[in-house]
Amino acid sequence: MPGGAQNMNEECSTNSSNVPDVGAATAKIVELFERGLAEREDLKKWIEELSSKANPTIRDRLCLALYRHQLSFREPPLPSGDPLTGATLWEYWASHPTEYRKYCRLETEIQSYLEPPETRLSRAKSIRQGMIDLIQQDSVTFLAYYPVIEKMFGKPETKAGPGAPVTRRLPAVRAVQMQIDNDWNLKRVTKELCDCGNDHSQYCEQRMRQSIISLKKLLHKCKVEPPRP
Ligand SMILES: [Zn+2]
Repeated sequence: MPGGAQNMNEECSTNSSNVPDVGAATAKIVELFERGLAEREDLKKWIEELSSKANPTIRDRLCLALYRHQLSFREPPLPSGDPLTGATLWEYWASHPTEYRKYCRLETEIQSYLEPPETRLSRAKSIRQGMIDLIQQDSVTFLAYYPVIEKMFGKPETKAGPGAPVTRRLPAVRAVQMQIDNDWNLKRVTKELCDCGNDHSQYCEQRMRQSIISLKKLLHKCKVEPPRP
């Protein structure tokens, strides 16, 4: 089998006199990527629904950006002529670690505006555990693939990309929505959403402004920003 998966198999087997049965191992990983391919139908449906909304909210726009991004993972630029299958998809990402990291960073950044950090981290952990359970079904597979899984799924992104601290990201989404819906200024939005527990200061407003700017940058980058009033 050509591509990245084969290269990794060679690396894994050099330290061992027993050559692992990589055919069986690959089949399990490929099965996962085939599931990923099947998810494209749902993603496309959701993208279409969100794209046709007359008045999408900021949250809708972020979801649209997320689903488009997740679809792009499932349809990478394969070498011309290669059909899109679970195997070619796995090979593409296994042999493009830099692009994979970049993909994960942006996915995490978008998700950080849609759900609290605890939810995101616990999901990342359960995905990793799912991968490990899958390959643990036999020890040969486990030995051959554990390093690969660790590399790809080992550390959930904790930084959540550029921008404001994760705790201020959900409020930023509400803030921009309030600005649009109610035409509220920064002072009013801060009063409504700042959780400092005191009388709000310049500092509160500044933090709110920073979070809003980060969010707007992301919306712009993902080409889902709301039209200017
Ligand atoms: Zn405050």
